[in-house]
Amino acid sequence: MTHLEKAVQLQRDGYHCSQAIVGAFAEELGYNIKDAFKISTCFGGGMREGGICGCITASFMVLGMALGFYDPQDKALEMYGNKKAEEFLALFKERMNGDITCKKILGYNIAEPDDLAVIRQEGLMPKLCPRAMSVCIGILEEMIREYRTREEELADENVEEAGDMGSAITRVDKRRTFMRSVTRLLEDEEKNVAFIQFDIRRFKIINDLYGEKFGDQVLFFIYEKLKTLCNENRFFMNLRADLFLVVTAYESFEELDDFIALLEKEFESFKKVKLQLIFGIYIVEDRSMEIRQMEDRAAMARKSAKREAVTNKLYYQEKFKELLYTRKFIEENMKAAIAEKQFQMYLQPKYSISQNKIVGAEALVRWIHPQRGMVYPNEFIPIIEENGFIRNVDYYIWEEAARFIKKCADLGINDCPISVNVSRQHLKDTEFIHVLMKDIDTMGIDKSLLELEITETADNYEITRMAELIKEDGFTLLMDDFGSGYSSLNVLLETPFDVLKLDKKFMDNMMASKKGMLILEYVVAMAKKLELGLLAEGVETKEQVALLSEIGCDRVQGYYYAKPMPQEEFFEKLLTDRGKK
Ligand code: C2E
Ligand code: MG
Ligand code: MG
Repeated sequence: MTHLEKAVQLQRDGYHCSQAIVGAFAEELGYNIKDAFKISTCFGGGMREGGICGCITASFMVLGMALGFYDPQDKALEMYGNKKAEEFLALFKERMNGDITCKKILGYNIAEPDDLAVIRQEGLMPKLCPRAMSVCIGILEEMIREYRTREEELADENVEEAGDMGSAITRVDKRRTFMRSVTRLLEDEEKNVAFIQFDIRRFKIINDLYGEKFGDQVLFFIYEKLKTLCNENRFFMNLRADLFLVVTAYESFEELDDFIALLEKEFESFKKVKLQLIFGIYIVEDRSMEIRQMEDRAAMARKSAKREAVTNKLYYQEKFKELLYTRKFIEENMKAAIAEKQFQMYLQPKYSISQNKIVGAEALVRWIHPQRGMVYPNEFIPIIEENGFIRNVDYYIWEEAARFIKKCADLGINDCPISVNVSRQHLKDTEFIHVLMKDIDTMGIDKSLLELEITETADNYEITRMAELIKEDGFTLLMDDFGSGYSSLNVLLETPFDVLKLDKKFMDNMMASKKGMLILEYVVAMAKKLELGLLAEGVETKEQVALLSEIGCDRVQGYYYAKPMPQEEFFEKLLTDRGKK
């Protein structure tokens, strides 16, 4: 359904215009539709006072949700938000021939009780408002699309070209002088030297928002200021656009930290526009290294800092190099890996302690690269979750799991459910449910045999919303990694899970003390009372098995019983377990 179709449908169902517009976008933007209705009702109320068409106020709300103007501390975003609202209003006026009040569009004033009676009686809202709704939705779609494209560009390092300082020729000259100065500094073994690379977060937005001229002014301001901060032991260079490099000698770490803090302070704003700098710092250890390499290390640290939410500066660590190479390798090879079937489904058995029997398995992906060998999920999943490619990998594994279930069913084995992991990435929309349904239909398998594992995280709202849908569709839902960090008992209340999978770390922690053991015992008892299934993950020792069995947790998955294995191997194991071999 398109946004407009959704909005019109909502209006037919009796929702008013502002609810219909917000409702048409809410879910895909990650908002609970019921909450969105409540908020848009307030917006509608405000609109009635001012007489402005409710579609407009609702659209402002959608823009806020889509473009993220929720940080009241961020003045730049606030101004950006205002600018976008103005832009929206101008387009609306243009397309509606200047009509922006409810009275003009509807012919009656919704705030007047007499008018409202006529509107209701004659069903004017669904008759006359769809035009305003259609205009609003059209503009919203354009603005959101444009914003997303720009965000993508922003993520792409190569597009930072705006506001170059000086021409290419003077740049070469400057670079030569700069290199000479740095070489001289490095020759003096007495001096500690650090490379500091920094750029401005969201610089492209500043350019967009205030114009390139303003962007140039910002850069010029930084450029001029850096000149005053540099001396015979400190040099700087504008590498490109908003990217700067400072190489400095320093006496102590405190002094270096103070200098970075000073840069932050000096460049915290320009003409009241807030700037946020991101720093990567490389402390020179090996002076025989090429200067270019030192620069690269500062750059790697800056790029890593860019991905961090909690800090805006990072010192180079050896692991960044590895991480960066791994990331590059994954991004460059993931597509071919799907095409060439390098991803494989491994299965790890789940056992019942009391019956000493396989009661299911978890599907775990493995990437077997022809040159690099086995790549483990912890290496590549976070990266493909970031770029969205996880969807393709999961779809592949789900299909494999469904095929495996079919293979078992064909031999009369219908009591070995396979659980698959559902990345959080899927929970943004309902596409994954359709994919699962299709797999189940195509293979003609029993839905109860394909179980879904979802990991809880800090914000469980999406999970709760989707879990309800999944449950309505009749799937079995396992809460993965329970106790690993974000667990809250609220999730148990709000989300209809069927089974808790106790996380390995949680169990290890709990088993280490008497108090922990007591907690574990009560968690098991609580799960029983709530009629939840329970399974302990990462069980490695005989002692753990004995303990779990004693407190009443009968199902386990872990190296003690078996490691994840190729599906063929698991199939053989299952056949033996079921006495079919
Ligand atoms: P998970 O879903 O919690 O899977 C359990 C992990 O614990 C697996 O790691 C498994 O090999 C490991 N494990 C099992 N028993 C033991 C044990 O006794 N000791 C220890 N130390 N570890 C044990 P793996 O396969 O490396 O997967 C790591 C995580 O990557 C998984 O955690 C899951 O979150 C994710 N993952 C794996 N395959 C997929 C997939 O196909 N799709 C998605 N979306 N995520 C996946
Ligand atoms: Mg799992
Ligand atoms: Mg787990």
